[in-house]
Amino acid sequence: MTEAQKKKQLFGTNGVRGIVGRDMTPLLAMRIGMALGSMRKGTIAVGRDTRTSGQALAHALSAGLLAAGCDVCDVGIVPTPALQYLVRQHFDAGAMITASHNPPEWNGIKVIEPDGTEMDDDASIALEERLFAESFDCAAWDGVGRETAAPDLVEEYIAAVAGAFPGGIGSGMTVVVDPGSGPAARTTPAILARMGCTVHTVNAIFDGTFPGRLPEPSPEGLAPLAALVRETGAHFGVAHDGDADRAVFVDETGTYLEENREFALLQEYVCSTRPGLVVTPVATSRLCEVVAKATGCRVAYTAVGSITVARTMLARAAEGETVVFGGEGNGGPIFPAHQHCRDGGMTAAAMVALLAGGDRPLSARAAGLPPYVMLKEKIMTAEKEGVLARVAAAFADTPLDTTDGIRINLPRAWALIRPSGTEDFMRLLVEGETKADAEELYTRVRAAIGKPKA
Ligand code: MG
Repeated sequence: MTEAQKKKQLFGTNGVRGIVGRDMTPLLAMRIGMALGSMRKGTIAVGRDTRTSGQALAHALSAGLLAAGCDVCDVGIVPTPALQYLVRQHFDAGAMITASHNPPEWNGIKVIEPDGTEMDDDASIALEERLFAESFDCAAWDGVGRETAAPDLVEEYIAAVAGAFPGGIGSGMTVVVDPGSGPAARTTPAILARMGCTVHTVNAIFDGTFPGRLPEPSPEGLAPLAALVRETGAHFGVAHDGDADRAVFVDETGTYLEENREFALLQEYVCSTRPGLVVTPVATSRLCEVVAKATGCRVAYTAVGSITVARTMLARAAEGETVVFGGEGNGGPIFPAHQHCRDGGMTAAAMVALLAGGDRPLSARAAGLPPYVMLKEKIMTAEKEGVLARVAAAFADTPLDTTDGIRINLPRAWALIRPSGTEDFMRLLVEGETKADAEELYTRVRAAIGKPKA
């Protein structure tokens, strides 16, 4: 196996993921535990989502960590951002057993660094290299770690999120929460209730078979949430993915709020009182720039991936910039005053605060944003470099942003063509001020791409 093939063979954009019993096994989890325990010392917090395979994988991972000489604190079933918060407060690192939005048969591991961010590429490659080389620290009898449990430590996260807003800010407000049978069943309803909201729930019992809907909160899967919002006269409904780092919304009429519009509204809420730098990937809607201009903010673009965004936010802040907001337009905003990761519970809480500040309902606020139109296409091809070269040549007289793939910026539209890092396809995103603007640029980009080789 070459070094290049070894590079991030296991770790993807957000940790290791695979189908349980085939790619993701207790044996792999134990080896990851041994490798991580050889790289990071001290006490490692282990959390998990509600998947049926969670306990087996958590025990295996913990066995590896203990054998390598680390202590383990089992924090139980918690959202990924809750684990991230607790690691930053109390632990030397963390490991989250989750497959995020993937279907029930999947599971995986996200490694959390002492500052609460997810492990970056270089450290993930180092961890993999240790794993493949079986270069493990194996403690002697008097060096093996101890395991403790802290099943109620998550209360600190609930208190921190609710405590980030003025007391009682949600009083008089009714909300509906759909944690999707995942770990936020314990946290988001509690956070919103503590803010003063009347809270109703759907799919709010831990269940790794996901009987109500899949872990990915699609508009179709959220029909029961939308129905309960209408039935209870709620101000909004919020739903999470399988590990609750993302949050998506339906408005008071039960209509799904497109995630880029969610991002823009929350950005407006944060930036209108505190201008500064907003950090987001090149795939985010230009609504971000519209809101930035209106609130006296600037936008810095990064490559796609929440870890890249979070680390860029930390780096720019370390350079002395006032970084006020960031994240991804997929239900994954980052509130740096709270922590540098996507946080679904915090996103839900921020929506309460946003709506508490006025009498305009969520639907009216969303309608107040420009009605930009986004087109998305997945192009199956192994010929990624060729496609990029043809697009670059066709738009040679246009300033191109090559932060991640190629982004073409025109006055009334923009497009992004970006290769998948692991599979044989490319993603094309086109956004226009109108449908006609989007379609015109889409036609030009598609003509430049031609018929790529499968
Ligand atoms: Mg997730």
